[in-house]
Amino acid sequence: MPRTGPDSAMTQTPPDADTRRAIPPVICYPNNTLPRPDLMLYRAAREWAEKVDEVLVPPREAACFRVGAGQFLRITSIDGPQVGDLNLWNAADLSERFYSGKTRALHGTHVTAGERLWSSFPHLRPMATIITDTLGWYGIDEHGGSVHDVIGTRCDPYTGNLLSGVQYHHCCHSNLTRALADEMGVPLVEAEPHVHDVLNVFMCTGFTRDTGQYFMKASPVRPGDHLEFFAEIDLLGALSACPGGDCSAEHTSDAASCYPLLVEVFAPKAGTLEGWQAPDVNGYDRSHGR
Ligand SMILES: [Zn+2]
Repeated sequence: MPRTGPDSAMTQTPPDADTRRAIPPVICYPNNTLPRPDLMLYRAAREWAEKVDEVLVPPREAACFRVGAGQFLRITSIDGPQVGDLNLWNAADLSERFYSGKTRALHGTHVTAGERLWSSFPHLRPMATIITDTLGWYGIDEHGGSVHDVIGTRCDPYTGNLLSGVQYHHCCHSNLTRALADEMGVPLVEAEPHVHDVLNVFMCTGFTRDTGQYFMKASPVRPGDHLEFFAEIDLLGALSACPGGDCSAEHTSDAASCYPLLVEVFAPKAGTLEGWQAPDVNGYDRSHGR
């Protein structure tokens, strides 16, 4: 099906258009050579892990939390269907942060148990591994939608202003900025550049087949559903309870019903992660041909 953009009538369809379109796709990054996480080890360690911290993220707000390397992070839906926007940094160096675009290139548009969140260049290493996803059953629906995407960026006041001229202050971008500023004890203007493209926790999204546009639909998440990660390095995290609520209709406004999200951190018992070590930074020598 041809994509119809505002200008598509201006292009000439060549006689072999269908032949060209019929070429089968090639996976850009076959991921069978990615180092495999030892999920059995992680899950066994999780069995005996003990809760060491808990943070409640209020609706239309964000909160920060810290997860040590080897600890576990659980994000749970409580009270009602709610989507969360997650940022992750190396706790010791904020310039190493979650790289949503490369995670998407390696794992696909949405992530689930067994897949990892990768960090920015020049580090490019796993920051966290998803060990449990209670929405793993959802798969890909008839609209091409799925859950926990790495395709959206985060709702932000700039796009809202661009499209509708509004001044709205509780988009995930602003929530994450305020939370990070408070956590680091720095002004908003210093915190804002650290906020980056998110993992959209519990959000159900895809691209329309006819126009290729980013879409969202009501999240299938229900209270009790959770996503759980193993921290591969020391992490500083920030989670925003999106003003879109379950993202069934709109964001960048106070119209949607919003609920809190629960963040919990669990520490493993001594000796239960035998053989695991935090991943090294990427092995590329960084000489770039010089
Ligand atoms: Zn949002």
